[in-house]
Order: sequence, then structure tokens, then C-alpha cells
Amino acid sequence: MNCKRCGSKAVIRIDYANLTLCAEHFSEWLETRVEKTVKDYGMVAPGDIVAVAVSGGKDSTTLLHVMKKVSERMKFDVVGINIDLGIDRGTKYSSLSTELAVRNFELTGVNYKVVKLKETHGFTIDETKHRVKRPVCSTCGLVKRYVLDEVAKEIGANVLATGHNLNDMAVFVMSGYHTGDLQNLARLRAVSPGENGYIKKIKPLFLTSEKETTTYALVNKIPFLLDSCPNNPKVGGPTSDKLRRMVELTEEEIPGFMLRLVENFERRIRPFFEDLPRFNLGKCKVCGKPTNSDRDICSFCALKIKMNGGEVSNVVSGE
Ligand SMILES: [Zn+2]
Ligand SMILES: [Zn+2]
Repeated sequence: MNCKRCGSKAVIRIDYANLTLCAEHFSEWLETRVEKTVKDYGMVAPGDIVAVAVSGGKDSTTLLHVMKKVSERMKFDVVGINIDLGIDRGTKYSSLSTELAVRNFELTGVNYKVVKLKETHGFTIDETKHRVKRPVCSTCGLVKRYVLDEVAKEIGANVLATGHNLNDMAVFVMSGYHTGDLQNLARLRAVSPGENGYIKKIKPLFLTSEKETTTYALVNKIPFLLDSCPNNPKVGGPTSDKLRRMVELTEEEIPGFMLRLVENFERRIRPFFEDLPRFNLGKCKVCGKPTNSDRDICSFCALKIKMNGGEVSNVVSGE
């Protein structure tokens, strides 16, 4: 298997593009592809400050390195964020995650901030496990969304980038079709405009497959965390795990399936959801962020109050 561009030994075959590429030409191909995605979908404008959320895994570390390169061509700034969520359970998962994120911030030379959830908000994800009814991965998602938004603004960013890849997006789309949850599908966006007090959010790798992000990390010797979270070794639970396998098997049979599924969803299907009646938004009495209008306090503040030993009487049960 030789590189189609230079004839030297190829490191990857990209079936849907009918390409085999060496390390150097693959890296160039992926960086150009991400730059094109960023431009085509209006993700970043010159002068923006983009905060990249880095967990230390292959996707987020690849995202950081690629966005740093793209930023030099497109004239925007990149800063890094890592949240130490306090997930340990005998694996030191969060401290390893922070260690690897910091190594990558230093390798790319970006300014960065590490936030320890315990220090800033008084609790860890591990501690929530037996104190709240919500499944731990759902609590963790809520905390990450809230804290990333908060920290990105604190460090002066106006855009927040996360490492969701093409496989993740294909699974989200399939799972939305499967459950028929239109509100969830409507929120599934490559670019969420900053509105209602939230920062603009982008997914620059949403058209880049997991095989591509992993290969990029490996051939560029990017240090990344191989371990998966001890709370969730199979991401998303059994049903979404099976959907992931189904999507990936289909990709093998029909090269380009994931790309068409996700691109068609973003460009041709999701726009129909924009007219869906939205939840009525109210304001959280504690932090001022948007909340469902039937609540006084947003889900994050309710969680924080509970975890810090307070009473939350006016919160809908299940939190
Ligand atoms: Zn080559
Ligand atoms: Zn709040």
C-alpha cells in the first residue's frame, strides 16, 4: 500500500475518498479538510479566540494540534481548557486526563486553564454517583457543558470547540431517529450560535472519522490517554453502543455512509427542525443562565446546591 501522492509507504487507506496516504500527506490532507470544514460552516472568523476543550483522549488532543495549525493560517487564537472532574475509582482517570491535556497545551504552546471541579464548585463527579438519581454520565455531561461554557468565557474566548468526531455524530443522528426525540435532533449541530447567554460552540472534527483522528494522533506522536472513563467503559450505554457498531459495520459495507448521513443531516434535514417550538426559557435565580421556565434554578445550580449540602425544594424531582 503506497501513498497516492508520493509513492512512499502509506499509513492509512481512506476508502470513501479512494486514497492511500503516507504520514506526511495524510496529516496535510486532514489539516486541509478541517480547515475547509471550519470555513464552509462559518465556525471561526479572523480575530476570534477559540477555546479547545481537551480531555486528553485522541479526538480532543488531535483537535488541539490541528486547530493550532489552522489558526495560524486563518488568523485566530487558540486557548486550551481541561476540567479535572474528580473521576478516580482506583484508576486516577481525571488526574491522567489533566496530565495529558497539559502536556499537549505545552507542546502546542497555547495559553490554557485547568479547572478542578472540587475547588471551583465543591464536588467531584465520583461524589455525585450515589447522591443523585441521574445516571452518572448524564450528570457528567451536564457539568461539562456548564463549566466549559463558564471557563471559556472567563478566559476571554468567544468560541468553544469540542472534539466530537464523525462516528459520534453518526451515532447521535441514528439514536435521534431511533428514539424520535426531535428536540435532541434539533440541538445536534456542527455550529451552535452563541445565544441565550451561551458561548458559540463548534465541532470542527464532525466530518473526520475516529480512524482518521486516531491515525493523526499516532503518526504525529501526540501523547494521548488510551484509557476510557471508568464510569463508562462502553460510551453511552448498551443501546448506543450497538448503534455505534451498526454504523461502523455499515461504513465498511458502504464507504462514505457516515459522511453522507451526517452531512445530509446537517445541511438538508436539521434545518427543518429550526421551526420546532422551543422550550420557554426562564432565568436561573442563582446564576442567571437560561433554564426551563418551569424551574427557578437551573439543573447545574440545583446539583451544586445539593452536593454542597443545601436544600433544593423547588427543583423538579429526578435531579
Ligand atoms: Zn506521501
Ligand atoms: Zn444556575
